[in-house]
Amino acid sequence: MLRLKEAQAAGCAHPPAEEPVARARLTVDLDAIARNFAAVRGALSQGAASAVVKRDAYGLGLVPVVRSLAAAGCRVFWVETFEEGLSVRQAVAGARVFVLQGLAGRRPQDFVEARLIPALGTAEEIALSAQAAPRMSVAINLDTGLGRMGVLPDAFREIAAGSGLKSLDVAVLMSHLAGFSEPDRDGNRSQLALFQELSALVPDALPSIATSSFVYAGPRWHIGLARVGSALYGVHSARIAGYRSEPVIALDAPVLSVQGLRAGSRLGYRGDRINEPRRIATIALGYADGLPEAFTDRCSAFVNNRRAAFVGDAAMTTTCVDVTGLADTGIRPRQCVEIVGPNQDINVLSGALGINANRLLVAFGLSTHRTYRGGGSHG
Ligand SMILES: *Cc1c(COP(=O)(O)O)cnc(C)c1O
Repeated sequence: MLRLKEAQAAGCAHPPAEEPVARARLTVDLDAIARNFAAVRGALSQGAASAVVKRDAYGLGLVPVVRSLAAAGCRVFWVETFEEGLSVRQAVAGARVFVLQGLAGRRPQDFVEARLIPALGTAEEIALSAQAAPRMSVAINLDTGLGRMGVLPDAFREIAAGSGLKSLDVAVLMSHLAGFSEPDRDGNRSQLALFQELSALVPDALPSIATSSFVYAGPRWHIGLARVGSALYGVHSARIAGYRSEPVIALDAPVLSVQGLRAGSRLGYRGDRINEPRRIATIALGYADGLPEAFTDRCSAFVNNRRAAFVGDAAMTTTCVDVTGLADTGIRPRQCVEIVGPNQDINVLSGALGINANRLLVAFGLSTHRTYRGGGSHG
């Protein structure tokens, strides 16, 4: 069994004390998430910040993440599904929880009873919810140009002009911007103008349009309630000056074996021949851990802060790393190799791979064993 001290000496980020390290491990820094939330709040010139925790908090673990955000003062959360909403309500007393999917086939009454607020996305959902008793709290999602989900402008004008909203408590009017990676894009400005025109029809509702990028894109976007995901989790959703989000995850994989291979040996499924003698470390990390196809070609691993190239291709649960020049690092089985961490941030990997950083985050988070540091967690 690999104990904590031994594991730390071997370079693992933060293994729990009693577990052997035999699989890739994602360490989530809950204090960094709390600090990122504080940074978002500090950046807003007006209005409030809320946290988007859809899909298990971007793969990082719904309950630990919302608890740490709640400790940092966050009271409003956006989840994907009704079930996620129930978990958040249970984890955080007094939380206001919005369900991005809307009713998604459930009865409005279910939301009333669970004290969850659906983000209604169609005229039908609005009509159904208007029949609920007592008067129901809802958000309405307006499609101002994303063309994905939400009530279209003409339909909304019609509903607002009639009696369609009279028996609803419209707590929030929201819209989602298409050009999140380029906040200055013209399309975003047109969406904002249309959104402001539509939200004037329901003056009592809190408007909500900014996501992470827009928090850092200037005060024009700071209206009502910002809905922030990426920036909380260390993801730079746009390259803009002043964007603040410190790293949250580390991904380490333990070495399973180290072998000396002779010149002429074959390596991996492709059967590549090696021309010179090599030392090859096999690590417990494969495509089942969320590793994208191009990873082994375009990215590296780090052994005691020294770069090591991947060799061969990733298998389901293992990958090989060339450690020929790294004998002096004393590399040996059970030592941990850095895949994401101080030497290789998730945003750097995203750039190298041409893959959205959130996609990487979710893939790693949902596939690997997760551990936590900070936030009063142990291990
Ligand atoms: C995911 C999501 C967000 C959060 O966006 P980030 O860019 O991750 O901050 C906000 N609003 C909606 C509707 C979303 O689906």
